[in-house]
Order: sequence, then C-alpha cells, then structure tokens
Amino acid sequence: MREKSPNILFIMSDDHASHAMSGYASRINETPNLDRIAAGGMRFDNCFCTNSICTPSRAVILTGTHSHVNGVTTLASRIDNRLLTYPKLLQTQGYQTAIAGKWHLGQGPQHWPTGFDYWCVLPGQGLYHNPKMVEMEQEKVVRGYATDIITDLSLQFLEQRDKSRPFCLMCHHKAPHRPWEPDAAHALMYENTAIPEPNTFDDDYSNRARAAVEAEMQMWHLTERDLKQPVPAGLSRAEEKSWRYQRYIKDYLRCIASIDDNVGRLLDYLDAEGLAEDTIVIYTSDQGFFLGDHGWFDKRFMYEESLRMPFVIRYPREIKPESVNRDMILNLDFAPTFLDYAGIEVPADMQGASFRPLLQGYRPAGWQESMYYRYWMHRGGGHKVCAHYGVRTLTHKLIYYYGQPCGQPGTADEPREPEWELFDLETDPCELNSVYHDPARAGVVKTLTAELERLQAACGDEPA
Ligand code: CA
Repeated sequence: MREKSPNILFIMSDDHASHAMSGYASRINETPNLDRIAAGGMRFDNCFCTNSICTPSRAVILTGTHSHVNGVTTLASRIDNRLLTYPKLLQTQGYQTAIAGKWHLGQGPQHWPTGFDYWCVLPGQGLYHNPKMVEMEQEKVVRGYATDIITDLSLQFLEQRDKSRPFCLMCHHKAPHRPWEPDAAHALMYENTAIPEPNTFDDDYSNRARAAVEAEMQMWHLTERDLKQPVPAGLSRAEEKSWRYQRYIKDYLRCIASIDDNVGRLLDYLDAEGLAEDTIVIYTSDQGFFLGDHGWFDKRFMYEESLRMPFVIRYPREIKPESVNRDMILNLDFAPTFLDYAGIEVPADMQGASFRPLLQGYRPAGWQESMYYRYWMHRGGGHKVCAHYGVRTLTHKLIYYYGQPCGQPGTADEPREPEWELFDLETDPCELNSVYHDPARAGVVKTLTAELERLQAACGDEPA
C-alpha cells in the first residue's frame, strides 16, 4: 500500500436503473444527492454488467471474475467465501474494510462475508422495515427502515474506525428492490402526480425472439403484494395496465428518494470530517431494471435498460468535476480499479481491467469496445426468462437464447428452441426490431458471431 492510499466508499443499491437518476436525464424523478457525486467527478454512460441479476453481479464485483469462473451463476448460487476478493486484498494491505447492508451471497460459515473487519448484513433479501440483520455472525433485529439503518451502520463504522489508516466501506442498500416498500417520510411522494410512461410501454414484442414474448414480468405479473392494494373494479385493460404501472413506479421512486437522502448524509459526513478530498465515492447498482420499458419490471435480459448500470464516481484528487465518459466499463472492472488505486498489483486471474486511466482523462490504446454477457438462470426465478449469452459492441448487440438449463441451480427444465437476435443500436436504440434474419445484415452477423466466440473463449466460457 502506498503512503496516501485513498479511502473507498462504495455505495450500491439493488435494482436502481440509471434512467431513474436525474444525472442520467431521468424523465421521472430527481436525485440531487446522487447527482452531487457526478457533479464532483465523472458519470459513466456505458457501464454494463456481465450477468444482470443480483447475486451473480455482486460476486462479479467482489472477485473481478465472470460468473462461470466464480461459480455464482444464478440467484440460487452461493459464494464460496474462500475466493479471492478485492476487500481481502485491501485488508491484507492495511485497509480497514467493512460492509453494511445487502449481501445476498449466501448464509453460514462458508458463505458469510470474509475479508471485512466489520460486517453487518441482511440475511437473504432482507426486509425493508425492522429487518433482521446478522452482525459478525450474531443475529439481531434492528428497528427502523432498512435504507436509514444501513446508512447509520455505515456512519457508525466511519466514526469508530482507526483514523490513521485508509478505509474501504461497502454500503449496500436493499432498496429499491421488489416489493418496493417506501418509508413513512416518502409514502405520499408523487401522490398527485402521474409519472410518464416510457416510450416502449406498449411494446408487443413483434420482430423479436419468443423469449421476449414468454417472459413473465409484464405489468400483469405484478402481484397484490407489489401493488399494495387490489386493482379497482371497472377499469379497461389499458387503464388497468397504466394503473399498475403508477402503483409500481411510484413506490420504486419513493424507495430511491430515501436512498438519495441517505447518500446525502454520507456525503455531508465526508465534508464535515474533511474526508472528501481523500475518498473515492461511488454510487452504482448491481444491474439495471425495466421501469415499464417494454411493458416490464425486473431485469435479467441483455437489453439495454437491464444491462446498463448507473455508475458515478468522485475523487477530487484525480477526477475532473462534471466529466462524462462514454467508454465501455464493466462490473468486472471495479475490483481491478480499486486495487489499482490502493497500489496493489491486480492478480492475474482477475478478468477485468482498471479504468483508472479513463478517470484520469485518457483512454488506453486497445480499451474494450465489446463485452461478453451471460444470463444462466434458464426460465427460473419466477419470470421465465430464457438463458442467453451475447456480445454488445459500441453499435450492435447479438444475443443467443440457447434454450437449455445447463444444470445450473434455480433453472427450470423447460428446453426451448434456440433463437438469435441482432439489434442495431444506432438506428434502433430501444431494441424493438431484431434484424438477425435480414439478408442485408449477414456481414454484421458474421462479424459479431466471431466476436462473441472470441470473447467467450478469452474469458474461458464455453458454448452451450
Ligand atoms: Ca439486483
């Protein structure tokens, strides 16, 4: 560790899509405190996850390896806590490390957090109100609202830390994950406002793979628990769909408003303690989310809304305020970047790359212009999304729904005929029209198929 290694405050929420952040030009809400991070640093417009679902994305972030390498492929997977992670490396090099909030990588001696001087996490998904928490293997119930509690625990760690050493704190919110339960302070926010519906709200999934048609995450799949009240009688089908969207999206945004307030508390603390200059602050989420886009909620698909993660980062000593970056970065790259800042050599078996040069304002020669994605949880987890893998370049996306569970945990034995999709992101940014079978695109298909094979082989994965 170098003498002046920066502190790292990594704030991550669960299922917060970037198009519900005002810094990303949200049409539906304001997030002034999250925007403070971007205003003081850099906003990334093309940060992607390699597997758009909670548990796997968290494992990718910790280990800097793809799901097939770290073994956490689906929601039903558990992390082997002997794996090498970036907090472990930071800890052995003198950092104080802590995690507060959502863990979601399993419970028990083989799965609890390791590499942390302090940890206090929600078991499983955790509750919004008066949650049970596990603090260094001791169970307790904490009164209050999860987002406030997780922030309180984070502040308490900061207050009690050894001030002579740098810290790495992972503040992991449960919100705004389903079932989207706001706190009392925000319960009536947006009450008399109609939230705009997205442009693709009435997508009929024509010109696409059957996988899109078959996914069970339309407004109709929201349950009474999600909606918090029965559907009123007498609505037309279109009216009911809109009513369902309003019920869902308002609670989702209320949960985000509480995150925003609480991120403000953390930033205020850094300011008050004189820590802002020496602390890298990140706000991100474990993946994106469909906010009524394509008529859906949830994630899993390689489509843009679900693939893209919000990622804003501030470090006054190195990042120019109000900068925006459009280069491609992945959740796989977080661990190598943090190790780079700590002056720790990145282990050869980590698969991402440090994007510190991008933060310093230059793009290294040969920086990635394509990425490999794989969703493994074939038709599992209640939403019936087919397993798929694919490649996204700066301009196109090729997706292969291979139609098999491949023996993965949490999948359903419901084989499907393989299908392909190709999207031209320049002419069809909303991905409404697959052009895979367009003869004029044969050349693009050939090039992208080769790129997919190259990326798959390079990361050690195999064709289904
Ligand atoms: Ca998630």
